[in-house]
Amino acid sequence: MSFLTHLECSKCGKRFDANRLQTVCDACGKPLFARYDLDAVGEALTKRDLVGREASMWRYYELLPVRDRRNIVSLGEGWTPLTHAPRLGAEIGVPNLWIKDEGIIPTGTFKARGLSAAVSKAKELGVRRVAMPSAGNAAGALSAYGARAGIEVYVFMPEDAPKVNAVESQITGANVVLVRGLITDAGKLVAEGMAEMGWFSVSTLKEPYRVEGKKTMGLEVAEQMGWELPDVIIYPTGGGTGIIGMWKVFDELERLGWIGSERPRMVSVQAEGCAPIPRAYAAGAEESELWEGAKTVAAGLRVPKALGDFLVLRAVRESGGTALAVSDGELMDAVGLMARSEGIFPCPEGAATLAALRRIVNDGQVDRDERVVLFNTGTGLIYTDLFKVEAPTVSPGEKLDFRSLFGRADHSRRAR
Ligand SMILES: *Cc1c(COP(=O)(O)O)cnc(C)c1O
Ligand SMILES: [Zn+2]
Repeated sequence: MSFLTHLECSKCGKRFDANRLQTVCDACGKPLFARYDLDAVGEALTKRDLVGREASMWRYYELLPVRDRRNIVSLGEGWTPLTHAPRLGAEIGVPNLWIKDEGIIPTGTFKARGLSAAVSKAKELGVRRVAMPSAGNAAGALSAYGARAGIEVYVFMPEDAPKVNAVESQITGANVVLVRGLITDAGKLVAEGMAEMGWFSVSTLKEPYRVEGKKTMGLEVAEQMGWELPDVIIYPTGGGTGIIGMWKVFDELERLGWIGSERPRMVSVQAEGCAPIPRAYAAGAEESELWEGAKTVAAGLRVPKALGDFLVLRAVRESGGTALAVSDGELMDAVGLMARSEGIFPCPEGAATLAALRRIVNDGQVDRDERVVLFNTGTGLIYTDLFKVEAPTVSPGEKLDFRSLFGRADHSRRAR
């Protein structure tokens, strides 16, 4: 069973009933966190009980908010590989490098985790219609889980969001609206239509349970590393739910006695064309300020102002981590580097973590012997519009000079 007890404001601590639909704190407007009876979880569950459970995020059912298992809306999300990356690690100078690869999850990004949790809980609480502004990937995931749950879906996304996201939302039966603007503009439209359309908004952190789905990334890293957290976690930050969720669940795990008080240094990466979190971090500010003219190819990072910014900054500071921005050129180079060295074709957001690692290794902020986990938050297959195919085209029957066709004679790779 779920050990959910209540909701609590992440800023002012006000309590809310978890058996009713909730959005944000009515006193201060900040996000609500789900709280669990962790003493009871500790009595009912041991680490060993998890062995052999289903290979999805729902293996952590006790620490998730759905009370009746029949309400779980799942497509098999989670329990993604934590892959050792020795070739890439050697190249960067960090042999203990790991990639948590969210690219193989349903709908192709870790957004599936949050929306599996949110749609399941919405179904449990009787919601019939949901709406959301999205940079693209969340829309695709919401549409898929909405279809599976039989709930009506309305998504608003920037017109230049990846085409795949509009197509997948449409094909799974969602009502799709393209907005000439950014995700913040899309968010205003969702808020405006709410009263008239009677839809429930599952906008990032305005709904308490997406972050619960995303916290399972932290649970998986802990379990996959034998309950010893890595030294550094590098995470590409947009709305911030992933880093916020992992930070939250590490505390839950400590309360259960499953980990100690040590924490990884949490590194938040954004793109130079939209970097409100690194800017606030550098300024010593508690919250970020709206980033004007946000622009980056990493669509999931194009969030000019996040409701949970103060929680991201808190995780970064309390963990002794850092926040930095990389250029689109650096992150696109990193896409190729990760793909060539490990066979993982990352999304640009995921590749940003590699570009960031390069920088902090060069600065001396990471030691050679430290264990580093990069989060590849989605598959590069969503972003093929960003790449040109650079291949010779030949005709059958054409007499080919193979050596000149491939530029150089020795095209072999160095073996591992
Ligand atoms: C949404 C998104 C992000 C940012 O995620 P948050 O946890 O909301 O900060 C990163 N990568 C991809 C691929 C995304 O779709
Ligand atoms: Zn509050």
